[in-house]
Amino acid sequence: MASTRVVILPFPCQGHVIPMMELSHSLVEHGFKVTFVNTEFNHVRVLQALPNKGSNLKGINLVSIPDGLHPGEDRNDLGLLAEGFTKVMPGHLEELIRENNEKGEDKIKWLIADQNMGWSFPVAKKMGVRIACFWPASTACLTIMMLIPKLIEDGVLDEKGWPKRDEILQIAPKMPPIRTSQLSWNEIGDPRGQPTIFKLVTDNNKYMELAEVTVCNSFYEIESGAYTLFPNLLPIGPLLPDSKFEKSLGLFWPEDSTCMNWLDEQPQKSVIYVAFGSFTIFSEVQFKELAHGLVLTGQPFLWVVRPDFTTGLSKEWVDEFLVANKEKCRIVSWAPQQQVLAHGSVACFMSHCGWNSTLEGVRNGLPFLCWPYFTDQFTNQSYICNVWRNGLKMEADESGIVSRERVRDRVKELLASEEIATRVQELKESAGRSLSIGGTSYQDFKRFVNLMMKE
Ligand code: UDP
Repeated sequence: MASTRVVILPFPCQGHVIPMMELSHSLVEHGFKVTFVNTEFNHVRVLQALPNKGSNLKGINLVSIPDGLHPGEDRNDLGLLAEGFTKVMPGHLEELIRENNEKGEDKIKWLIADQNMGWSFPVAKKMGVRIACFWPASTACLTIMMLIPKLIEDGVLDEKGWPKRDEILQIAPKMPPIRTSQLSWNEIGDPRGQPTIFKLVTDNNKYMELAEVTVCNSFYEIESGAYTLFPNLLPIGPLLPDSKFEKSLGLFWPEDSTCMNWLDEQPQKSVIYVAFGSFTIFSEVQFKELAHGLVLTGQPFLWVVRPDFTTGLSKEWVDEFLVANKEKCRIVSWAPQQQVLAHGSVACFMSHCGWNSTLEGVRNGLPFLCWPYFTDQFTNQSYICNVWRNGLKMEADESGIVSRERVRDRVKELLASEEIATRVQELKESAGRSLSIGGTSYQDFKRFVNLMMKE
C-alpha cells in the first residue's frame, strides 16, 4: 500500500509545536509521510535552532505559511496572533493542499490539526481531506471549554466568558478544582485579547465536530475523571521524544547541552531544575528574589533564563550573581529539558506547569514546585497540588511577590515529603505502563493509526 501523506498543523507556539513534532516522528515510524506546517516566523526559528540546519529531517517535510502579522509584531500577544492567523492562514493552507494534490501521486489524505487551529477543519473538509483533531493540553482543560455553553446557562459565566463571581468549579470527581477567575481563555496576559481568544475557543469547540477523531497528549489513568465526560477522546500521550531522534525538529531556541556535563558533576537527586517554558516573563524584583531564594536552599540549581525572560535586569547583575554562586548555579538560555528531567542528579522541577512540562516531569518521576503564569497552567497546578498530590504551590505574599524565604522553605518542604515522593513514583510508573505494549495510550495510538490507514 502506498504510504499516506498527512499534513500536521500546530498552533504557532513552542508548547504546541513540540508535541506535534513528536507525533509526526511516531507517524513516520508507522509508514506515514508528514508535511509539517509552521508559520513562516517559526519556520525560520526552527531551522536556526537546528544544529545541522535542516539536515536531519527524518522523513518530515518542513513547510511554512504566513501568520498574518508584520515582522515586528508581538507574537507572544495571543489575541493579536489569533487575529492575524485566522485572517490569512485558511487561504494559504488551501493553496498548500491544492498545489500538493495537483502534482499527482503523493496526495494529502489527512489533516491533523491542533484543536486551537479549528479554522483549518472546514478548509480540509472542502478539499476532501480527512480530519483528525489534536488536543495538546489536559483533557480537563478541554472539558471545561466544551462546557462553556452550560456554564453560561448556569449563570457561572457571562456571555463573554468572564466569571460572574469568583468561585471554585469542581466539574466531576478527580477533575482539578479550578477558580472561575483563572479560566484558561481569560488568563492570557493582555486582557484586551480576551474577546478574540474567547471567540476562537467557542468557534473551535464547534469545528471539532468536523473531525473524525480527536487525540490528545495525555493518558487515561492520570485524567480518568475528565474521560468520564469525554469518552470518545483518544489519549495517546505522554508524547515524548524517542531516543532514536537525537534532536527535536521543533525547537525555537538552540539547546545548550553543556549543562548535561554540569549535571553529571552534581550529587544524585540534588539539583533544582528551574524552567518556566517559552512564554513566562518575570519582573526584575521577582527574578532577583527567586535567585536569592535558590541560593538560600543550599542545593545546586540549573535555571533556564530565555533571552526574553525578564525585562529591566542588567547583564552585569546576572554575571555578578553567577560569579558569586558559581559552585552551585548554572544558567542556560534553553536546556535540553527532556534529557535534564531524566538525569539522575535532578531532585525536583520548579515549573510554570505548562502541560508539556507537567507531563515530562510526571513521566520522569519528579516532584513539582508550581509557579503558573497564564492560560491552562492554573488548571495544571490544581491537578498537581489537589488531585495527583505530586507537588506544592509557590504562593506570593500580599505584594504579589514570592519571597526568597518562601522559595527556600517550599523547596525544603518538597524534598522532605515522603508522601509526595511516593505519589511521584506511582505516577511515573502509571505513565510508563500507559505507553508500554498493551497500555492504554499504546492501544489508543494503534487505534488512531488503524483508522488513518483505512481507506
Ligand atoms: N523546553 C525545552 N527547553 C527549555 C524549556 C522548555 O526544551 O529550556 C520545552 C519543554 O520540554 C516543553 C516545552 O519546551 O516540551 C514547553 O512547553 P510547555 O507546555 O511546558 O510550556 P509553554 O512553553 O507552552 O508555556
